[in-house]
Amino acid sequence: MKVPFVTLKPLERELDKELKMAFERVLDASFYIHGGEDEAFEEAFSVLCGVKHCVGCGNGLDALMLSLKALGIGEGDEVIVPANTYIATALAVSYTGAVPVLVDPDINTFNIDVSKIERAISDKTRAIIPVHLYGQPCDMDPIMAIAKQYGLYIVEDCAQAHGARYKGKRVGSFGDISGFSFYPGKNLGALGDAGAVVTDNRELAETVRALGDYGSDYKYHHIYKGHNSRLDELQAAFLLAKLPLLDKINENRRETARKYLEGISNPGIILPSVPEWAEPVWHVFGIRCSRRKELEEHLKKAGIGTNKHYPIPIHLQKAYEDLGYEKGDFPAAEEISETELSVPMYYGMTDDEIGYVIDSINSFR
Ligand SMILES: *Cc1c(COP(=O)(O)O)cnc(C)c1O
Repeated sequence: MKVPFVTLKPLERELDKELKMAFERVLDASFYIHGGEDEAFEEAFSVLCGVKHCVGCGNGLDALMLSLKALGIGEGDEVIVPANTYIATALAVSYTGAVPVLVDPDINTFNIDVSKIERAISDKTRAIIPVHLYGQPCDMDPIMAIAKQYGLYIVEDCAQAHGARYKGKRVGSFGDISGFSFYPGKNLGALGDAGAVVTDNRELAETVRALGDYGSDYKYHHIYKGHNSRLDELQAAFLLAKLPLLDKINENRRETARKYLEGISNPGIILPSVPEWAEPVWHVFGIRCSRRKELEEHLKKAGIGTNKHYPIPIHLQKAYEDLGYEKGDFPAAEEISETELSVPMYYGMTDDEIGYVIDSINSFR
């Protein structure tokens, strides 16, 4: 049997008609930027997140970067970022001219270690970016309390956590402003690049919209040196077709995760732990193993695709040499980078596939 690390086919088969209708609708309208599909999606996505405003943009990196810029963050500022995340989180900070300051994650939840945030705060710190990594919500209550105490903004990175809940409330609705990615493989994915910002603050939403549309508040009137980062009509139409299925997609992933958590019993494997207040959406199911390379080989021989999130932590990337960090500075992030292995997780995995992955992991010696 072969089990890919990820495939979008089961969802695309289910939505074949809706996706083709979306394409035809946009082609018939013959309007490709700002034609109405974008607004319809923004409205529907803000309702799902439980926030007042949503602004579509080009991708998840831009969603974060435009959010930071709308908050006025730039040169001379520092922004706290978890050491274990996709590099986009740090790049969004760098693109504003501010400096990302890393904080080690909690080895059990993979998310930012709340107890280590305060010692990273300086008089230049302006914001914290909690990343709901692998679809697991961060512990938002203490993070919000720290932000309040020190007068910092919260920008949630929700790129891997569409629809996830913390204490019953959707991620993206806690911070001042939040960024989402609709990269095709995300829990809610476009058929290309796309992203969005959500916020309850109308002024921030308007600033993000202007910044992403050449800095213009109305046509040919430019109030900022802005960017070109808009949600195009085709992607908005595809996202509108997929959005009604998001909760079903996430429930299906949670079902798969439950089977993994119950079925994987190999003592050499550390399973992800889920705090009781979390309703994760399992963008990634990451297990840990001290003999990762051998496990990876074992699964590969069995025809099972795997991945690593992420093999080189940000502080050891060449691109971020200038931050001056060294090996050993973030022990949990380094431990995760050396031991984490992501196993197949996608909407529509069959029981046979799930059982085969479980058996193959359990037979690893
Ligand atoms: C995917 C991702 C991003 C960036 O999204 P793009 O749409 O690829 O630009 C940002 N942060 C995290 C945590 C991500 O996983």
